[in-house]
Amino acid sequence: MKPILVTGGAGFLGSHLCERLLSDGQEVVCVDNFFTGAKGNIQNLIGKSGFELMRHDVTFPLYIEIRQIYNLACPASPIHYQHDPVQTTKTSVHGAINMLGLAKRTRARILQASTSEVYGDPEVHPQPESYWGRVNPIGIRACYDEGKRCAETLFFDYWRQHKLDIKVMRIFNTYGPRMHPSDGRVVSNFIVQAIRGEPITVCGDGSQTRSFCYVSDLIDGMVGFMGTPADLVGPLNFGNPGEYSILQLAETVIRLAGTRSRIIFGPLPRDDPRQRKPDITLAEKTLGWRPKVSLEDGLKETITYFRHRLRP
Ligand code: NAD
Ligand code: UDP
Ligand code: UDP
Repeated sequence: MKPILVTGGAGFLGSHLCERLLSDGQEVVCVDNFFTGAKGNIQNLIGKSGFELMRHDVTFPLYIEIRQIYNLACPASPIHYQHDPVQTTKTSVHGAINMLGLAKRTRARILQASTSEVYGDPEVHPQPESYWGRVNPIGIRACYDEGKRCAETLFFDYWRQHKLDIKVMRIFNTYGPRMHPSDGRVVSNFIVQAIRGEPITVCGDGSQTRSFCYVSDLIDGMVGFMGTPADLVGPLNFGNPGEYSILQLAETVIRLAGTRSRIIFGPLPRDDPRQRKPDITLAEKTLGWRPKVSLEDGLKETITYFRHRLRP
């Protein structure tokens, strides 16, 4: 049997996915350019039979023989995707074209890791898949949001035009072990600050909301979706419908980490979405998928991971 390709396999979600697929007995080719990923994330997989690592940038063509593709390559944290915005759009758009071309030649099933960012700063709350979103096309988040939206367009055009076997998942904020300590996303930032006893940096007044999904729940959903019949193409929302303000998150992390860190307030980044919460009715109905890990339990696991990782 030909292997499964995971692009972005050395990143946070990708490394958990590679691990899961290998433990399910699959052969995996992990492709990554190590922009935000790291070999350390897949250290325990390197050398295992059935695992192959390729340093490659998905904006360039890739000719290999595979039977499924999980397309995760793309920086996900605002500070990283805004660092080189042109490259971010290239990764989403050229990356999608190349991976779709690869899927077309090999007739492989292909899953796209899309994002709740396609909803932008939403006026519909919670967000169902039928909502078209509100994205600023020329703002600082557009390289990511519009890149991902264009990738969705390409997936659906290859599906209609070339009868490709596609799955599009819209992932809402997901956290857990193996996020990089300087990843910049809110959960890892707050935990790292709490462990170091540094101030917790809340942007704005902290009243904006997010919904946080623990990584194991998300990976269950991703692998489950990949295994569904061909007529279920999505887009499907995956996330934890619990909704928290950023200030609530800060207070929860402070309590669970037992830190004396205080909260400081800074400017709100431009175009920062005010609210976000997935409507997961479709994923529940079609896959029977629902996240199981509570925010407190997931945060405790993640705090334990970072304590270990940051030990001098
Ligand atoms: P991450 O930054 O940890 O992982 C992204 C991986 O892609 C990294 O290993 C990086 O080196 C690699 N990469 C970036 N550009 C590449 C390129 N041009 N060629 C090859 N590899 C490249 O982020 P993550 O949280 O693991 O996100 C994985 C995917 O899931 C991304 O596509 C992201 O948009 C999507 N997603 C994640 C979340 C989340 O909350 N974690 C939410 C929505 C969508
Ligand atoms: N491609 C790739 N691997 C393959 C097949 C194609 O990387 O195995 C890339 C190739 O660079 C091409 C893109 O995918 O530009 C889109 O392929 P498609 O067949 O859709 O388009 P075409 O080759 O006709 O432009
Ligand atoms: N945020 C914050 N402090 C930080 C990092 C982020 O208050 O140190 C806020 C950010 O402004 C946003 C929310 O937390 O309102 C989630 O940010 P993140 O970068 O994790 O993800 P996204 O905005 O893409 O959902």
